[in-house]
Amino acid sequence: MELGGKKVVVVGMARSGVAALRLLREKGASVRAVDEKPMGEMSGVTVEPQTEAAFRDADLVVISPGVPADLDLLNGVRARGVPVIGELELAAPFLQGHTIGITGSNGKTTTTALTGHILEQSGIACQVGGNIGKPPASMVETSRPDQWNVLELSSFQLETIATFRAHVAVCLNVTPDHLDRHHTFDNYAAAKRRVFETQQAGDFAVLNADDPTCVAYAACARGQLHWFSLDRSVAPGAWLDNGTIRMDGERLLEAREIPLRGRHNVENTLAASIAARLAGAGLPQIAAAIRTFPGVEHRLEFVREIGGVAYYNDSKATNVDATLKAIDAFPGGLWIILGGKDKGSDYTVLREPLRAKARAALLIGAAAPKIAAQLGEDAGPLLQCGTLAAALEEAHRSAEPGDTVLLAPACASFDQFENFEQRGRVFKELVGKLAEGNR
Ligand code: ADP
Repeated sequence: MELGGKKVVVVGMARSGVAALRLLREKGASVRAVDEKPMGEMSGVTVEPQTEAAFRDADLVVISPGVPADLDLLNGVRARGVPVIGELELAAPFLQGHTIGITGSNGKTTTTALTGHILEQSGIACQVGGNIGKPPASMVETSRPDQWNVLELSSFQLETIATFRAHVAVCLNVTPDHLDRHHTFDNYAAAKRRVFETQQAGDFAVLNADDPTCVAYAACARGQLHWFSLDRSVAPGAWLDNGTIRMDGERLLEAREIPLRGRHNVENTLAASIAARLAGAGLPQIAAAIRTFPGVEHRLEFVREIGGVAYYNDSKATNVDATLKAIDAFPGGLWIILGGKDKGSDYTVLREPLRAKARAALLIGAAAPKIAAQLGEDAGPLLQCGTLAAALEEAHRSAEPGDTVLLAPACASFDQFENFEQRGRVFKELVGKLAEGNR
């Protein structure tokens, strides 16, 4: 892509926008930056308001993943024949080396971090980025031809790709999420499917054989198919055979050796193992690396035990499916904290698992009334607590040794917190204080 002298507008000046701006400048483009919020100066440019005037003489528009691709303003730009691309697509032609692209509704960060960990432990050079942290545009400078780029990719990043190519593309699962941005499940599934549609012959598509949408992706995949399954033998690929993980006919390790809780983390492990294998890792190295994976903060993270009660932080469970998986990862005795900012979710599916495994659901935040109304009487005790602190105090008072207190709220955090990370940190601090009070 020739960018020298081009007039480019970058939309959305958070992390990805700033990375795009730097890359564009380095490639000789003349760049303007816009944002819907007033921001003043950033990275040496004055961030302009997001109005038509800013786009008038643009040759190219680059949008951040946080910016809806179907804004009227952007449709107007496209109508003039000006390309509108995402930050990932901008970075793609400049990223050296091979790329593993990991997407899915849940499990992306865990699987991306685990894949990176396995490659590092196997002595295979890699850099990890995308949604997990470093935007692809800022990985360009450190990319090398003999190195793998392991990228966590969201539907927002994939929605606008045309030439970005993942040599190994992974999809973990597709369940309803982000419908506020994609409007329909079909649009959302189509955005994730792009990662397979832009592959080339000789590439690899790694898909969940137990997920109907992933199975449907196979029809348009251009790369060689590799499958993973918790239920049945698949080839080529990896599956869970009575507690043993097998890959391409060989034993990899026992599922109980995975240091992360829950069957969903077995799925993530299967997917990461296949991706690492396709990048050249050997089976013994993969197994050894899995055993030492520390996990990722805020994902079913064990915080501590107080008086025989275990506390887990799954603040990243920002949708109902993730909460279902979290409940599934425990045998019972749960005091589960639910609520936050509703994303138009259907909470009725939590009724049965809560009835089976929860001592009580502790409801917090703006979504609490809706959750209570949808769960009704059948889900077991529902306690309106309002805040995280009140919910934790209630759980601490009532839980008995052997029980588990679990923050897996099924909602976004923005009603009471900055983001899910801050919610998780506050949870851990509060648990720390409870422990001090217990001494
Ligand atoms: P993502 O990056 O896709 O949001 P994370 O690894 O951050 O994925 O996990 C998000 C949430 O989903 C966490 O609550 C985690 O426990 C849960 N989760 C992780 N892997 C899976 C999976 N394979 N299926 C369903 N839920 C999962």
